[in-house]
Amino acid sequence: MDQAPRQGEDDGDGAGDVLAVPSAQPPLEVRPPDVGPVKTVAGGVPAVLSAFKHVLGEAGPWRGGKLIWKINQQDGFDCPGCAWPDPSHRSVQEYCENGAKAVAEEGTRERVTPEFFRQWSVARLAEQSDLWLGKAGRLTHPMVLREGATHYEPLSWEEAFALVAEELNALGSPDEAAFYTSGRTSNEAAFLYQLFVRQFGTNNLPDCSNMCHESSGTGLTETLGIGKGSVTLEDFDHAQAIFVIGQNPGTNHPRMLTALQAAARRGCEIVSVNPLPETGLNRFKHPQEVLHLFGPGTALNKLFLQVRINGDVALLQGLGKALLEREAKAPGTVVDRAFVEGRTAGFDAYAANLATVSWDDVVEQSGVPREQLEAAADILARSERTIFCWAMGLTQHRNAVGNVQEVVNLTLLRGSIGKAGAGVCPVRGHSNVQGDRTMGIWEHAKPEFMDALAREFGFAPPRHTGLDTVGTLKALHDGQVKVFFALGGNFLSATPDTEFTARALRRARLTVHVSTKLNRAHLVHGKRALILPCLGRTEHDVQAAGRQFVTVEDSMGMVHASRGAVAPASEHLLSEPVIVARLAHAVMGARSQVPWLALVEDYDRVRELIQRCIPGFDDFNRRVRAPGGFALPNGPREGRFPTRDGKAHFTVHTMPRIALEPGQLLMMTLRSHDQYNTTVYGLDDRYRGIRQGRRVVFLHPEDVKARGLTAGQRVDLTSHFQGETRVAREFLVVPYNIPRRCAATYFPEANVLVPVDSFAEKSRTPTSKSVVITVAPTPEAGALVPATAARPG
Ligand code: SF4
Repeated sequence: MDQAPRQGEDDGDGAGDVLAVPSAQPPLEVRPPDVGPVKTVAGGVPAVLSAFKHVLGEAGPWRGGKLIWKINQQDGFDCPGCAWPDPSHRSVQEYCENGAKAVAEEGTRERVTPEFFRQWSVARLAEQSDLWLGKAGRLTHPMVLREGATHYEPLSWEEAFALVAEELNALGSPDEAAFYTSGRTSNEAAFLYQLFVRQFGTNNLPDCSNMCHESSGTGLTETLGIGKGSVTLEDFDHAQAIFVIGQNPGTNHPRMLTALQAAARRGCEIVSVNPLPETGLNRFKHPQEVLHLFGPGTALNKLFLQVRINGDVALLQGLGKALLEREAKAPGTVVDRAFVEGRTAGFDAYAANLATVSWDDVVEQSGVPREQLEAAADILARSERTIFCWAMGLTQHRNAVGNVQEVVNLTLLRGSIGKAGAGVCPVRGHSNVQGDRTMGIWEHAKPEFMDALAREFGFAPPRHTGLDTVGTLKALHDGQVKVFFALGGNFLSATPDTEFTARALRRARLTVHVSTKLNRAHLVHGKRALILPCLGRTEHDVQAAGRQFVTVEDSMGMVHASRGAVAPASEHLLSEPVIVARLAHAVMGARSQVPWLALVEDYDRVRELIQRCIPGFDDFNRRVRAPGGFALPNGPREGRFPTRDGKAHFTVHTMPRIALEPGQLLMMTLRSHDQYNTTVYGLDDRYRGIRQGRRVVFLHPEDVKARGLTAGQRVDLTSHFQGETRVAREFLVVPYNIPRRCAATYFPEANVLVPVDSFAEKSRTPTSKSVVITVAPTPEAGALVPATAARPG
């Protein structure tokens, strides 16, 4: 493994210090990953050891110990990992292995100082792996890359804000800037940010939600009237069946396994639907149940349906068809007639469509045998209270909104919403991605929200639709957006079509990233670039009124406080709310009547503004101080559907056909276990048996054989879209339990293959789980050439 640089270490002979165009992609791996057996049990002793190794190794016993006691505690900080909610009665250790890794990353003792940047040119940094960049440490000072320079250099905060103001105020139109938000951003920072952006004059507010659960939001809003899930964590205590679709909670939402384990132990039937049989849904050993650590663990899955990639509409329609066939045989026993007739619309069209769907098509397109579908339908039919959970496996396809709405159809058919133990549960990724949207981070916010901003702040917010993530990429590429500002995240590595994205960013006049750590997005930049280092969520945030807390909204609509537990990594860091306020003050000057600087002296003042503009936040400052916070209003949770006619809607979808030419495969990108979003914590994917490497492609053994390949061979992957090809080089072939003609690879390495023009209907989410590829042996195995995109620039 590459070792992170240390202060005082020379970067060689300076050969890399020339002005070069750094690669936008992680470097190829010098040694192939090791491939071992797939694990059968998640959690247990390995998870405990991994958590402690990361926290104590990176943050040290003192800082690490303090952090681990405060993660997800009532008086502590919200885990910066995923958005899984906290139970109302918390144990002293409310975190998972991956939460511990996230905290260790932020709590690291390593620092990226001005001296570090003096030693390391941008070009040389770009040659390092994502792991290396992340392990380099916490950013300590604001840094600027001046036009034509090879190295970042320090500047003062005043100079940084003045530079951004100069660029923004020189634009021909506010729409020539785009303001990205990552899901880590707190409610307070997000509210101020969108207010500033709209006072500046644009709705160009792309966010990470555009790339993950936008399809859920779109699909649910159209059918149920609200773009959020309807269940609470307590509902998992009452469900009779839980369907987990296109989701790998063992790696991406590990504490969900605790809820599933409790459900399985009391007899709830869990059905998982996924192309890969993920270890986390097979068996689980809770790391805190000491007496069970050496036992076999709890079996979670009652039934596993190994669906083909993007076979979900076929599968869900098959389940609906099977339920309707049972209803036809015994009327009144399967369809919840009272619910369907009283609270829904569109049932007849839905049923009529399913009558035309053939079982042959269902089985062929889903890849799941009929008897397994019937078994799943039996579970659905006998469960009076079912929760449907899902994640990116449903949302990153061209027909993703249809996927989500077919889940809703099943929910409505069984009347399985608006009562305890039942409902829909899109499981969000980043910790405050849902809250940021509630705060108005949206390129087409609702008119009522804009009216509230106008009323409260006395200005006319722009009403035209702004740019989402795909729109921002294309506008940057076309030169229409000239300033790109990112509040958190790693935009380059999170977005599709890496080489296209890189060209787009390089055309900007200014790129700005508010960050805690170094990442690849800092190395692929506009003519000028800024890195603005911010406080982490784990750190004390002291302003004029004293120590502050921020708030977040979890995946189930609970809003609660997050208080930092340790001293900041550097005295030069500013909090995100302060960065936004000082930026707005510098850019807007007398054009804004908002008292930006006074607001962030005491974040209660920001929350008072949120309370006046956003429904559901009444008495915000008092209620958020209660243990566990408070729940936002959620009509579907109570059986009310805020649609235009007050009904929940069945919808009709054409079953998508997976059309592959001979030799082609359908590829999905996924995370390894040592990864959270774009952050790489290590090189192992323990559950899938991969160690010390990431450039692997999982293929069915018969597909390996059919292509004349062998296990461990190096191959190049070529994606095919509308006559264009894109190539990613040197992946190790791993025969795996995956459906025929399917493939899986890790992102961000494989993002280069995802075409920017390939996105979901309506939601415009990039189709990162539906990429048509071919696989061929690497011509000169071992040649360390960077991956490239063949798309013309
Ligand atoms: S489940 Fe998610 S929020 Fe909870 S500790 Fe793990 S990563 Fe953090």
